[in-house]
Amino acid sequence: MNEERFAERRRRAIEAAEAAELAGLLVSPGPDLAYLTGYTPMPLERLTLLLLTARREPTLVVPTLERPLAESASGAAGLEIFDWRDGTDDPYELVAQVLGSGRYAVTDQTWASHLLALEHATADCLFVAAGRALPLLRAVKDPDEVERLRAAAQAADAAYADVIALPFAGRTEMEVSLELDRSLRVHGHQSVDFAVVGSGPNAASSHHDPGERRIGPGDAVVMDFGGVRDGYWSDITRTVFVGDPSDEERTVYGVVRSAQQAAFEAVRPGVPAQEVDRAARAVITDAGYGDRFVHRTGHGIGLELHEPPYIVEGNETPLQAGMTFSDEPGIYLEGRFGVRIEDQVVVTDDGAERLNEASRDLTVVA
Ligand code: ZN
Ligand code: ZN
Ligand code: ZN
Repeated sequence: MNEERFAERRRRAIEAAEAAELAGLLVSPGPDLAYLTGYTPMPLERLTLLLLTARREPTLVVPTLERPLAESASGAAGLEIFDWRDGTDDPYELVAQVLGSGRYAVTDQTWASHLLALEHATADCLFVAAGRALPLLRAVKDPDEVERLRAAAQAADAAYADVIALPFAGRTEMEVSLELDRSLRVHGHQSVDFAVVGSGPNAASSHHDPGERRIGPGDAVVMDFGGVRDGYWSDITRTVFVGDPSDEERTVYGVVRSAQQAAFEAVRPGVPAQEVDRAARAVITDAGYGDRFVHRTGHGIGLELHEPPYIVEGNETPLQAGMTFSDEPGIYLEGRFGVRIEDQVVVTDDGAERLNEASRDLTVVA
């Protein structure tokens, strides 16, 4: 990615901070720093902090030993880099001098130890959570980001295709989970962070850890899995049936599938995020399962697995072209079975497009 794009992102961040009546934004190691500079250090007890304010050039404070790495980051051009030395320099005093006074947003991944030391070093600064003050900083993806998210989604689709070709009956949830993990890596994931496999009654638990339960005929199996490919997250859920599903399982599957489709069809620029949640919820409520849909319809996805915009009642944020988020309604019948179907979607100029293409047809496995 070219350096100009990082500079443009930093300009937009400063404008957004000003629009929110903030003096600036303080960015710790994590997804926001990666987004704004291409620099991806480990979060440590030694302070690394990017300071964005309209008053000066973007300034990156780093430990002296990290300076060479910071200078070689893909978005380092245009950054003023200050380094501080163990034992002799106080990095918080350094930051305090640069900040002066004012109200600053601090990215959510900032360790409490750093923020508390900053509060101690600054007399006239007030710090607020960037996740609340500037929730949409990374929400609208540029075309390059959408393509990376699509590639991650398609790798997850491919892992799903690999796994449903294998027999389920007789294997444990853990065995299927390890197969999903392996296949995601085969299809280009650098890390696999979750591979939930819930079978039979465990399918009714939305974040069940795969265990030693042996999958048998008649089970519904919810698989929710994903990880990071090329910096961006995948996250997909499919529910399959081992042998012929019961009438009730068919009904519930059909309701969830219709709800997922209704949410998808509600997506277009200008629509408040909560309307997408309402579209899915209306279908499930009309079918009599409203109290069994126990979570929001979706979450944004990008450099983080869960990020704004959240597709939830109360979120009036208007959707914009380029936003990416999950569409994942579910119905959970405790002690019996559950169904969830999840795709990632991107808002287009006149509607939405799915990034996942794995079939949502009711699928029977061996
Ligand atoms: Zn494959
Ligand atoms: Zn998921
Ligand atoms: Zn999800």
